[in-house]
Amino acid sequence: MLLPKNQNQNIAVTKTDVLQAVDPVAAGVAFSDTKPGKNGSLIIKCINQEDATKISNIATDKLSENYVVKELPNLKPRLRIVGFTSEDLYKNGTLSNYIVVQNKHLFPGSQDCDIINFTKIKSKRSNDNNENRNVIRDSNSNKKYQTKFQALIQVDNAAYKSILHSGHLIVGFDYCLACDAVEVRRCFNCCGFNHLSKQCSFRKPTCPRCSQEHSLNQCKSETLCCINCTIWNSTQSEKLPADHAASDIKNCRMYQRAVSDFKHNILSLE
Ligand SMILES: [Zn+2]
Ligand SMILES: [Zn+2]
Ligand SMILES: [Zn+2]
Repeated sequence: MLLPKNQNQNIAVTKTDVLQAVDPVAAGVAFSDTKPGKNGSLIIKCINQEDATKISNIATDKLSENYVVKELPNLKPRLRIVGFTSEDLYKNGTLSNYIVVQNKHLFPGSQDCDIINFTKIKSKRSNDNNENRNVIRDSNSNKKYQTKFQALIQVDNAAYKSILHSGHLIVGFDYCLACDAVEVRRCFNCCGFNHLSKQCSFRKPTCPRCSQEHSLNQCKSETLCCINCTIWNSTQSEKLPADHAASDIKNCRMYQRAVSDFKHNILSLE
């Protein structure tokens, strides 16, 4: 990513500067995508890490006076796959293979599928087994109380889009639901996005409940107030509701905005 130091700069100026400084043919590098980012920045995606490093070096060499040149992490979108009836495929290391082979029509590009984690789903019916101990059930009704599992997987953009569109995957004999699991990290210190508390530049904590300067366990406030939506409201004419905790990702419009920026800028989805 090339971010102009003058943040009011138009993207057209950035493009002209980059075109003049970086000749992809002379450098022998292949771009897979270029697009505008935020604040006049230009994001160049390369087909591999080697090309990305080359471009980044050339850009740093020629443009660092007026631009910040940043290599963005090569992150992939994540999906939550829910409804496995057994851990066997995960335990014997074949889950990824089963997902790709059995659903190959949903993997038009890369066949990579990383399993990030695999967890048991907490059953809301955990008491049912006891309550129904004396009830004779046929095999169908037994299924209702079976333990189920979910996996967090990471795939390329094409597979992410087609799996989300289909809404499910068949794995073994399980029909599993697929849902979006792209998340943005939120700092435990300042409640800001895309960094961790150990990288945070704020010394004092901001309360995620009430937005005052104290940590969550010292909070005595009855009123919820989101710091991220409050900051936005103080500088922009568009007003967002701020009467929620900063951790309330369902109601926080700034969090949702951060997710959509992350999808656009880092994951190149759209
Ligand atoms: Zn922070
Ligand atoms: Zn508080
Ligand atoms: Zn908010």
